[in-house]
Amino acid sequence: MVRFMNVTKRYGALTVLDDLSLDVAEGEMVTIIGPSGSGKTTVLRMLMTLETINGGVIYVDGKPLTHMPKNGVLVPADAKYLRRARSSIGMCFQHFNLFPHMTALQNCMEGPVQVLGLSKREARERSEELLEMVGMIDKKDQHPSRLSGGQQQRVAIARALAMRPKVMLFDEVTSALDPEVIGEVTNVIRRLVSEHNLTMLMVTHQMGFARDISDRICFFYGGKIEEQGPPDDLFGNPRRDRTKQFLSAVK
Ligand code: ADP
Repeated sequence: MVRFMNVTKRYGALTVLDDLSLDVAEGEMVTIIGPSGSGKTTVLRMLMTLETINGGVIYVDGKPLTHMPKNGVLVPADAKYLRRARSSIGMCFQHFNLFPHMTALQNCMEGPVQVLGLSKREARERSEELLEMVGMIDKKDQHPSRLSGGQQQRVAIARALAMRPKVMLFDEVTSALDPEVIGEVTNVIRRLVSEHNLTMLMVTHQMGFARDISDRICFFYGGKIEEQGPPDDLFGNPRRDRTKQFLSAVK
């Protein structure tokens, strides 16, 4: 479903992703861990097509995301192609970025109506179903400022899902939350993993949560995958020294 093929990303002289190759299968939940600055968030930003890449190609569902076919060869994608490609990716950030002047329901309906062209009735039905799923249907008419951080994040997850993305990205979705509301957000993600066959890529510092719900953990170091494997192997029996050092520091 997601393929990074020899992807390089540089900011000036700084190489942030270094010839990175990474495949995520349909329905797989992959978590990226690693020290600050190792390129974790950049991987997600590349998938959101927020940045251009300096080398390699990224594919989503078999189609190039960063490039478009032209006369039999792949050329860098133009803005129109990127806009369409981007709609197959859903993203939740550390800061929820809900539209402040819209209610929870309106936040969820906006993309389906404006970008996908759904009727208001269809968008409302879809959004209400998702708000129900994240336990926020009772608050659907509230504006974000009246909701707690955990509640806003659950609305943000429903809003991303309302676009029926092929891939969902979660970037540190619990790190701006008060400890007592982290569980309500991780439980929603847990349900997505167990009940929906969504392909997901997550960056988190919550190692226990990552170990519980991921199919695979990728440990990043210096813009490369230093080590990867099933959670019990990577956390229980890390092989590389850098992985061992990182895990003992975050415990
Ligand atoms: P992580 O998520 O692992 O903490 P990031 O992917 O955010 O790391 O960043 C990787 C590196 O890229 C860091 O050294 C960061 O300073 C650098 N970086 C990220 N965004 C930019 C930018 N827009 N301009 C210059 N450097 C950047």
